[in-house]
Amino acid sequence: MCSGCKTVEFKDYYSENVYTWCTNCGNYGITSALKRALVNLQIAPHETLMCFDIGCNGNGSDKINAYTFHGLHGRVIPFCHWSSTRKQKCKCNSFRW
Ligand code: SF4
Repeated sequence: MCSGCKTVEFKDYYSENVYTWCTNCGNYGITSALKRALVNLQIAPHETLMCFDIGCNGNGSDKINAYTFHGLHGRVIPFCHWSSTRKQKCKCNSFRW
């Protein structure tokens, strides 16, 4: 993190979008753990690209305040690979199946 940058906090990844997962779904824990990891690593939302695929888990793409991509039926794999090979400003490029 640069010396002039603010500390990344959990609330920085907060999204106002309504969760549609079932009560007690594991996706709540997964999403929360991902956000905590990004905060621990001090990676800001504007430095984060998360790639999601189809299904309930993929619906998490709008539950995190970061750059996200929501693909279908494995199509996220080539996009994620392509984006990880680019020398963009994103420090974190994660993939969720
Ligand atoms: S994965 Fe989907 S169907 Fe299963 S508990 Fe979570 S939201 Fe419900």
